[in-house]
Amino acid sequence: MTVNNVLERSRCQLPVLKVRPGSECVAAFGELGPLWYAVHWANDRQHLCCGSDVVDCPLCVYGASRVVGMTLVTTRLQAASKVFLLEVSPLAWGQFSDRCRFGDFVLADGVEAKVTRPRARGCLRIEPLVRVDEFASWLDAERRLLRAWAVLYGLPLPSLTETFEEFFRRVLSVVEARARIAADTPRK
Ligand SMILES: [Zn+2]
Repeated sequence: MTVNNVLERSRCQLPVLKVRPGSECVAAFGELGPLWYAVHWANDRQHLCCGSDVVDCPLCVYGASRVVGMTLVTTRLQAASKVFLLEVSPLAWGQFSDRCRFGDFVLADGVEAKVTRPRARGCLRIEPLVRVDEFASWLDAERRLLRAWAVLYGLPLPSLTETFEEFFRRVLSVVEARARIAADTPRK
């Protein structure tokens, strides 16, 4: 990896917003992704599932994968707005989208919401509070999400034109090789 590549990756990196049971945070959401993908949990780590129409996933032998989504949110920390990745379940996102629709919020325009995790290991609860126009001004947020996602999972950077599907197909052999290593590692 060249120095430029390392610099570029660190520019694309974003922290993951952790919402612990009992805590609450307010974050601005937009209609960004979520990028949906499947993961396995093995040996205290999350692994990407490589199951697709071209590859069988070696980790699927040990148990079904779980679909998770990744989106971008902004939270205000000491007056400054900071961007985070946020992992959401299909259920949490579906309920949030419904709440927006019934509450007359337009997710594409930006919505500030309260995020809680009612139960330990349960999914997030995301309740719309007010409209925000923050997301309307975001340039290229989808690309930012995809690049931050790739860095989070230690994958090469997506090109400037690749969609998530195109990118995932390109790096599928990497994901498969890692899944194979994880599958061959003795379970704790
Ligand atoms: Zn799998």
